[in-house]
Amino acid sequence: MKALVIAETADAARELSAGARTLADEVVLVTFGQTPEGVSDKTIVVNVPAGAVADDAYATVQAIYDAEAPSVVLAEPRRHVKSVAGRLATAAGASVITDVVEMGDAGAKSLYFGGVGERVRKAAGGVAFYTVAPGTFEGAVPSGAGVVEEVAWVAPAVPLTLKSSREREKGGADLFKANAVVAAGRGFAEESELDLARALCEKIDGGLACSRPLTEGVDWMPSGTYVGVSGLALAPKAYVACGISGQMQHMVGCNRSGMVFAINKDKNAPIFKQCDFGLVGDLKDVLPAVAAAL
Ligand SMILES: Cc1cc2nc3c(=O)[nH]c(=O)nc-3n(C[C@H](O)[C@H](O)[C@H](O)COP(=O)(O)OP(=O)(O)OC[C@H]3O[C@@H](n4cnc5c(N)ncnc54)[C@H](O)[C@@H]3O)c2cc1C
Repeated sequence: MKALVIAETADAARELSAGARTLADEVVLVTFGQTPEGVSDKTIVVNVPAGAVADDAYATVQAIYDAEAPSVVLAEPRRHVKSVAGRLATAAGASVITDVVEMGDAGAKSLYFGGVGERVRKAAGGVAFYTVAPGTFEGAVPSGAGVVEEVAWVAPAVPLTLKSSREREKGGADLFKANAVVAAGRGFAEESELDLARALCEKIDGGLACSRPLTEGVDWMPSGTYVGVSGLALAPKAYVACGISGQMQHMVGCNRSGMVFAINKDKNAPIFKQCDFGLVGDLKDVLPAVAAAL
């Protein structure tokens, strides 16, 4: 049995290749740049030509898929990769089981209704396609000779046109790697108050994330830093939610953290039913005090 892994980042390439090894005898990894060594039997590098858009890699990956004929496809849950996986599945007449958080003999466990429910499903067709959340294959060890091949870019019949691009503002620490994440919510009344959260990040070597309202609308934080059903799914050792009410759409992105701490001035805020430690207080008082105590 052969597995095809499609990943954009080195961490996902490593983890998904290790996971693929538990499902198949042969692992072929397709990457778009970051290429870790020794994690697969074969690694195929797709170089996106200047001026092209990564979503258009589906035509190139389709050619790889046709040549490799895998039985299972594991895709990193990032925008470009999900778009490629969706197109591959459509061409194969299959569907994609998305947001998988656990793989077992009974099938793939994934979240639905925005994370309120979990279900276990098995792919019915000949090929199983999954997008897999980070941490699903934690502990699995990657292996393989990792023979690297480069493939020629296959331009799709109707390519996307890149109109403009700009450098994304850096969001600080890599939120996927940080042991601690401090997340800011609408409890921050002004952008300058985010410095209180940044000061705590410095003390605990944490990354700064946020709830969606702080990116869309006020635009105080980069869009790639909001946590939740339509944003990032993080599982740090410690997640410190500050001025976040605890709506389900946010909590599904952090409820696999080792420990959730909450700071909120409303003792009835729903987050206090979903955290390990809660502190009722105004973040303008609490954050400097916690930072000073640390
Ligand atoms: C389809 C859909 C998808 C969505 N996806 C996401 C998603 O992926 N991620 C996400 O985050 N949201 C998402 N949302 C929005 C989500 O429903 C909530 O509206 C959002 O998470 C609320 O953000 P918040 O907790 O920061 O703000 P609020 O709900 O307004 O909560 C602010 C909290 O701060 C507290 N507070 C106020 N002042 C202070 C202070 N001085 N000190 C301490 N505490 C204070 C208040 O008591 C309150 O509990 C989605 C919504 C929809 C409809």
